Amino acid sequence: MLIVHKYGGTSVGSLERIENVANRVKKARDAGNDLVVVVSAMSGETNKLVDYAHHFSKTPARAEMDMLLSSGERVTAALLSIALQEMGIDAVAMTGRQAGIRTDENHTYARIESIDPTAMREAIASGKVVIVAGFQGFTESGKVSTLGRGGSDLSAVAIAGALEADACEIYSDVDGIYTTDPRIEPKAKKMEHISYDEMLELASLGAKVLQNRSVELAKKLGVTIIAKSSFSDAEGTTIGKESEEMEAVLVSGIALDRNQARVTIRGVSDRPGIAAEIFTKLADEQINVDMIIQNASSDGTTNLGFTVPASEIERAKKVIGGFDHDIGGMDFDENVCKVSVVGVGMKSHSGVAAKAFSTLAANNINIEMISTSEIKVSMIIKEKYGELAVRSLHEAYELDK
Ligand code: ADP
Ligand code: ASP
Ligand code: MG
Repeated sequence: MLIVHKYGGTSVGSLERIENVANRVKKARDAGNDLVVVVSAMSGETNKLVDYAHHFSKTPARAEMDMLLSSGERVTAALLSIALQEMGIDAVAMTGRQAGIRTDENHTYARIESIDPTAMREAIASGKVVIVAGFQGFTESGKVSTLGRGGSDLSAVAIAGALEADACEIYSDVDGIYTTDPRIEPKAKKMEHISYDEMLELASLGAKVLQNRSVELAKKLGVTIIAKSSFSDAEGTTIGKESEEMEAVLVSGIALDRNQARVTIRGVSDRPGIAAEIFTKLADEQINVDMIIQNASSDGTTNLGFTVPASEIERAKKVIGGFDHDIGGMDFDENVCKVSVVGVGMKSHSGVAAKAFSTLAANNINIEMISTSEIKVSMIIKEKYGELAVRSLHEAYELDK
C-alpha cells in the first residue's frame, strides 16, 4: 500500500516528538508500506516567523512572507529525514517545489494548480520514504508560495490525490473529529465517520482540526481522510462520502470561531448599487465578508451589518472610510464570536434553528446576527459567551449521549 501521513505542529513540536514520529513512520514502513510523510513546522514556529516580520513591517510583502514562512516546514522535513536515516531507513526530504507542487501567484493563500509527482514517484520506486515540507509550493514565476494557515493538511490531501495513495492519514494531538472541540467540552464524543460536507462546514466555521480547503479538495478528488492522534493508537475518524445512516443524525457538531469581528455601517444612502460598491471594494482588498444583514430605516437610509475575520478589521476600516460621503458612520466590535450548529440531517428536519435560539435565550445570551444554510445555523454572539454557548448547545442536541 502507498500511504500518506501528515504530522501537524504539535506532533513535531520537539526533537523527542520528531523521534516519536520517526518511530511511527518506521512501524508503517516495516509493515511493508510505501510512504510519503508531510510535515508541518514545529508548533509555534510559524507564528514566531510572522512576529519577526512584523518587527520590521505591519504590512510585509506577501511574497517575502512566503519565503519566510515556508522555512519552518523545511526544518522539520530535514530533521525527520535525518532521524529516519539514523534508524536505517532510506529517506529523502523535499521542499514543496521539489515535490512538484505548483500553485497560483496568490501569495500567503495560494491554491494548488497542479502536482507533478515524478520526483516523488522516482524516490518511492527506489525504496525511499519521501518526506515533504507541507504548506508550500511554487509559482509559475518560480517563487515560493504558501497555502494559507493550516495548509499542510492541504499538501497531504493534494499529494494523496496526485499519487492515488491508498490512504491519507492526518495526525494531530486529538484522536479524531469530535462533536465539538474537546478542549471546550470534555464531554464531546468522537465520531467514527463524518461526511465531507459536514466536515467542510465545521472546518470553515472554526474547527481548526482540519484546514477547510483540505476538506474541499478531498471531496473533489474523492480522497478519504483519516484523522488520528500521533500520541496514541486509537481508531480515528474517517472523513468521506455521506452515508444513509448519517441523514438520520440531526446535528453532528458544534463549532466556535473566535476570529470574528462585526462591522455596522449606519445611515447608508438607500440607492441602487451602494452595497455592490462597498462589497466590491472589500473583495478587491481580499477581505472575506460573511453574515451580511441590511435593515431599512424610515429616513431613506439603511444600516448594513456584516462580519469579517478579526485579523482583517484594520483593512476593512480603511476601505469603508473611503465611503464617508455615502454613509452616516460605522461601528466595529471585535469582541464577538461565531457559534455554529452543523448537521446534514437538518435538510430534512425542521425546528433545529428554533432550538438553537431558545437554548441561547435560556442562557441569557443575546444573538446579534444569524445565518443559515441547508446544513448549518450560525450565530454571532459576544465572545465571552462563546464557550458557554458551545456547551449549552452540545447538551441541547444531546451530542454527549
Ligand atoms: P495540527 O497542529 O496537528 O495541525 P491543530 O491544532 O491544527 O493540529 O488541530 C487540532 C486541534 O483542533 C485540537 O487540539 C482541538 O483542540 C481542535 N479542535 C477544534 N474542533 C475540534 C473537533 N470538532 N474535533 C477535534 N478537535 C477539534
Ligand atoms: N505551519 C503552518 C501553520 O502554522 C501550516 C500548518 O501547520 O499546517 O499555519
Ligand atoms: Mg492544523
